[in-house]
Amino acid sequence: MATPTAKDGRAQLPPITNIQMVDLKAQYTAMQEEVDQAVLDVIRSCAFINGPAVKQFQAGLEDYLDAKHVIPCANGTDALQIALMALGLEPGDEVIVPAFTYVASAEVIALLRLSPVMVDVDPRTFNVRAEDIAAAITPKTKAIIPVHLFGQSCDMEPIIALANEHSLHIVEDNAQAIGAKYTFSDGRVAATGTIGDIGTTSFYPSKNLGAYGDGGAINTDSAALAEEIRKVANHGQSRRYYHDVVGCNSRLDSIQAAVLNCKLSRLDGYSNRRREAADYYDANLQGLDGLLTPARQHNSTHVFHQYTLRIDGGRREALQAHLQEAGIPSMIYYPVALYDQEAFSGSAANDISFLPVTDMLCKEVISLPMHSEFEEGTLAYIVEQVRSFFGA
Ligand SMILES: *Cc1c(COP(=O)(O)O)cnc(C)c1O
Repeated sequence: MATPTAKDGRAQLPPITNIQMVDLKAQYTAMQEEVDQAVLDVIRSCAFINGPAVKQFQAGLEDYLDAKHVIPCANGTDALQIALMALGLEPGDEVIVPAFTYVASAEVIALLRLSPVMVDVDPRTFNVRAEDIAAAITPKTKAIIPVHLFGQSCDMEPIIALANEHSLHIVEDNAQAIGAKYTFSDGRVAATGTIGDIGTTSFYPSKNLGAYGDGGAINTDSAALAEEIRKVANHGQSRRYYHDVVGCNSRLDSIQAAVLNCKLSRLDGYSNRRREAADYYDANLQGLDGLLTPARQHNSTHVFHQYTLRIDGGRREALQAHLQEAGIPSMIYYPVALYDQEAFSGSAANDISFLPVTDMLCKEVISLPMHSEFEEGTLAYIVEQVRSFFGA
């Protein structure tokens, strides 16, 4: 059938239905037999808690990240909380966190009666920078939580230097960037999450390495921290029924581990396909007045948890409506700065109530569909619809 042509002569793409932000179903279909069998094996073994699937995943992730110790846990928020608990911080200690991130990164700080100190981010990479962190350091600062937002590493080398200078702990929130690699100026390459003292990640279904329910993990190269983390995550006990500290109960379910074992070996393939989709968006969304494609940092690979545009001139909502009309979902990550959240009113140290870049990003960002299973033509259709909004 000939491609229908509109009056202006431009080829009209066939309407594509059922476009997803994240296509979990297609990903499952591509490995259905393997996953079904793995899940069935757990059920038949009845090893639901800390079974062989969990141990296999722990070892697999240690190998994948090149991390000495991985401690699986129940979700990415728990991972952050347990990491902070294991560092033995005192109430009132300040922890620096970007204001432009998912709430979990700061929530756990406040939950532990520590003080979240929110700082601004880079307008092009969306990541927190050493200079913004440096300006927020006080004698009470004890830790930094760099968040590798949307799939790209923060520029860690100057952050590490700052942390060393001021004796601060670094907990990397790697929930969105598992599989990304950071290159130091001496050429050394490290996986995100393995650069600071502790790394944390999430296996929430829509994350790049998503389980079929909740899951998370903590990693560290320090044997002492690993022991403390294991203890905190297991009711504060190092020996059964002897509780040294007040801990919590946070475990990765064996069924989720079985799913993750199937997906871990495919993760680099998923990342490559996300990158190819991003390359396509990048190549086809240039030269539109008022649209900025996401910047790629020279010293980090990008695993594109999100592909996030900036739309200026107050036109973001109109673009979103235009896309929705065309059957294309999009999301605003994140519409509200953390310092503007009711939950943190009055709790953020240094009375932060406005950061210019964060404020601007909350008004300008919009994330397009991004996953590893795009069908032929879907990206072309999305690009066509974005371009048509800009009259291109
Ligand atoms: C998803 C996410 C978390 C929390 O992970 P959960 O598994 O949902 O608890 C934390 N930080 C960031 C940046 C995230 O994107």
